[in-house]
Amino acid sequence: RKEGVYNFAAGPAALPPEVLARAQASLADWQGLGYSLLEAPFTSDEFKALLDTTRLQVRAALAVPDRYQVVFLQGGASAQFSLVPLNLLPPTAMAGYVETGHWSARALEEGRRYGRSHVVASTRGSGFDRVPAVSEWALNESIHYCHITPNETANGVQFPGDPDCGDIPLIADMTSEFLSRPVDIERYGMIYAGTQKNLGPTGLVIAIIREDLLGQARPETPTVFNYQLLIDRQNRINTPLMFAIYLVHLMLDWIEEQGGVETLHSHNIAQSQTIYRIIDEDDFFYCPVIPEHRSIMNVCFGTRDENQQQRFLGEADAMGLANLAGHSHAGGLRASLYNAQPDAAVAALASFMTHFRQRHG
Ligand code: PMP
Repeated sequence: RKEGVYNFAAGPAALPPEVLARAQASLADWQGLGYSLLEAPFTSDEFKALLDTTRLQVRAALAVPDRYQVVFLQGGASAQFSLVPLNLLPPTAMAGYVETGHWSARALEEGRRYGRSHVVASTRGSGFDRVPAVSEWALNESIHYCHITPNETANGVQFPGDPDCGDIPLIADMTSEFLSRPVDIERYGMIYAGTQKNLGPTGLVIAIIREDLLGQARPETPTVFNYQLLIDRQNRINTPLMFAIYLVHLMLDWIEEQGGVETLHSHNIAQSQTIYRIIDEDDFFYCPVIPEHRSIMNVCFGTRDENQQQRFLGEADAMGLANLAGHSHAGGLRASLYNAQPDAAVAALASFMTHFRQRHG
C-alpha cells in the first residue's frame, strides 16, 4: 500500500496492519480446510467454533456477567434504532431518549416510528457541547427504558462514565467507543455497537443484552432480527456475516495482545490529550465541546478563521494526513483516534497542526 499515509477516518477506520495481514492469510486457506473462510459453509463445525470463540472473547474483554447474552446482528447500528423498540418496547410503553448529538437524534427520530418517545434531556440548545448530568434527566416510572449514545461520533461529545439510571434499563449505542474502555455492564439493559470503528467490519453489530429484557418482541418483528430467536438458534437463523465476525475475532485477539481495554483506554486518553492540548494552546483552533465531555475517540475541532479550514484539509491531505473533515452535519474538522490509531499518526497530526498555526496564524 501507499507509504506515509495516516488515516483519521471516523469509520470505517484505520486497522492494525498485523490484523489485516492475518485476515489476508485466511483468504488463501482457512484453518487448513483447503479453501477460504469466504467459501466455507456457515453450518460447518469450524464456523460454529468461530462464533463461540468470538462470543467468549467479547465476554472476556468486557467482563460481561452471566445474565447477559452476546448476539451478532446484521444491518448496521442504524437498524437497531428500529430493532430495539421492536424487540424491547411494548406497543403502548414509553421510551426515553437522551439527545446529545447527531446519532442520538437519529435514534430518536427512528424510534418515534415504533412507539411513544420522550426526550428526557437534550443539549441541542447549547449546540451539543456537553452531556447533561443524570440528575437533570426527566426520568419517571412510566419510562420503559432510556436510550443514550455515550460517544457522539459526529459531535465529539462523550459521557464521562457509565450513568446510573437506577431501575430503568439503560440502552446504549456504543458504536464509536465499543472496546475502547472498560464498561460497568451492570448499569445497562442493552449495549449495541456497529463494529466499523474499533473492530473493523461494516454491517455487523454486537449486542450485549440482559436476559430479563428478552422474549417480549412484538409479533411483527422480523424473524432474522428477533434477539431471542437469534440466541435460541445460536446466531444462525440465516447466513451470518461470517467474514466480519472473523475480523472481529482477529481484532479481539489484537486487543488482548495490547493488554486489554484498560490499557487501550489509557492509551486513547493520552492520544486525544495530545491533540486537545494543541487546540487549547491559543485562539487559532477551537473545540466546540466543554473539556470534561470531550471524546477520546473523535476529536472535533475547527479553525476560528473559517477560511483556513479548506486550506488545512488540503495541506493535511498533501502531507498524507487523510480524512480529517468533520461529519457533514457538524462541519469543521475531526480526527478519529480509535484503538488502532498508531502514536506515529497522532505525532504527525500534532506536528502538522503546530506548523500550520505558525504559518497561517
Ligand atoms: N451510531 C453511531 C454512534 C455511529 O457513529 C454510527 C455511524 N457513524 C451509527 C450509529 C450508524 O452506523 P451504521 O452506518 O452502521 O448504521
